[in-house]
Amino acid sequence: MIKVEHLTKYYGDHLAVDDVSFEISKGHVYGFLGPNGAGKSTTMNIITGCLSATDGRVLIGGHDIFEEPDAAKRLIGYLPEHPPLYMNDSPLEYLRFVGEAKGLRGPELSARVSEVVEKTGIYNVRNRRIATLSKGYKQRVGIAQALLGSPKVIILDEPTVGLDPIQIIEIRDLIRELGKTHTVIFSSHILSEVQAICDQIIMIAKGKLVAFGTPEELQQKLLTPNEIILTTNAKDKDLQDIVSKVDYIADITTRTTDSNFTTAHIKSNHEDIYELSSSIFRAFTHSDKVIYEMSLKKGNLEDVFIELSENADAVVTPIESANDDSIESEVKSE
Ligand code: ADP
Ligand code: MG
Repeated sequence: MIKVEHLTKYYGDHLAVDDVSFEISKGHVYGFLGPNGAGKSTTMNIITGCLSATDGRVLIGGHDIFEEPDAAKRLIGYLPEHPPLYMNDSPLEYLRFVGEAKGLRGPELSARVSEVVEKTGIYNVRNRRIATLSKGYKQRVGIAQALLGSPKVIILDEPTVGLDPIQIIEIRDLIRELGKTHTVIFSSHILSEVQAICDQIIMIAKGKLVAFGTPEELQQKLLTPNEIILTTNAKDKDLQDIVSKVDYIADITTRTTDSNFTTAHIKSNHEDIYELSSSIFRAFTHSDKVIYEMSLKKGNLEDVFIELSENADAVVTPIESANDDSIESEVKSE
C-alpha cells in the first residue's frame, strides 16, 4: 500500500529524517511512535506530498508521490499537525469546501459530507462556527476532512495532542473505528496510546527507524527486556568468570561501591527471568563468591522505548567493549 525507500530529509544541514525505509500493508492500524523532534511530522509531510524529500522514494499504491502526485494523493487522507481549519466557517461549509477541492460535486458531495459528519460524530455541531468548537471537536472536523474523497489510507499526525482525557479516549475510539474500514497511520509520542490502538508499531528516534513490528514483537525481540541486579563480593574478573557460565546474558554493567561490594546490572534477552536467576545463583554456588542481594526487574515496552529513544544507535551497535580496570566498566559475555 505504502512503500517508503531510503527517505532522507535535510533542513539546511540538519538531518531530520535519516535513510528511513518501511512498508505499510492494507488493513492495519500503524502507530508511528517517537519522541518530540524524532522526525514524525517531517516523514508524514513527505509521504502525503506536502513536503519534498532530499533523497529517497515514496510509493502510494504503486504511484510515486513526487512523480504522480495526483494519483498518489487520491489514496491518502491527511490530518496534519496543524490542520488549516477556517475558523469562521461551520464544519459543514468547511467540509463542502474541502470536498470540492477533492473533486466532489452536487449530490455526491452532499452525500459524502453527510457520511463523514456521521462517522466522526460532529452532526450536532455541523452548523456552528469552527472557532467556537472545543479542541476535541475541531480535531474531529480535521479527521472528517481527511476522510473525504474515500481515501484508502488515513494519516493522522498526533491527533490526540492538546486534548483532555475524555476527548483523548473519544478520538482513540474513533481511530479504532476507522481502522475497521481503512488503513490508518497515526503518530504519537505516547507509547501507551500506540500500544492501546495499533497492531503495528513504527518507531523512530533522531530521524532513524529503530523498530518495526507488533507491540508483542517489540517487547520480546528488542534489546534486553529483563534485568537482574545483584550485589556480590565478586569483582571484575571473578564476576566475569562466574557469569560467563550462564547462557542468555546480553550485557553486564558493574559498579564497585567500596572494596567489598560490587553491584552488577545483568541484562538478558531470556524470556524466563526466573530460570536466568536460578542459573546465576547456581553459578555462584560453584564459586567461592557470594550474592548478598539480588533483585529482578522485568522489562516492559516502556523501557524499550526509553532506551531506543535515548540512543537511536543502540539497535545497530550494542556496546561491546570490555574494560576491566575502571571502577565503572561495561562487559559483555560471549
Ligand atoms: P516530530 O514530529 O517527531 O516531533 P519533526 O519532524 O517535526 O519531529 O522534526 C524533526 C526535526 O527537524 C526536529 O529536530 C525539528 O526541530 C526539525 N525541523 C522540523 N521542521 C523544520 C523546519 N521547517 N526547518 C528546520 N528544522 C525543522
Ligand atoms: Mg510532529
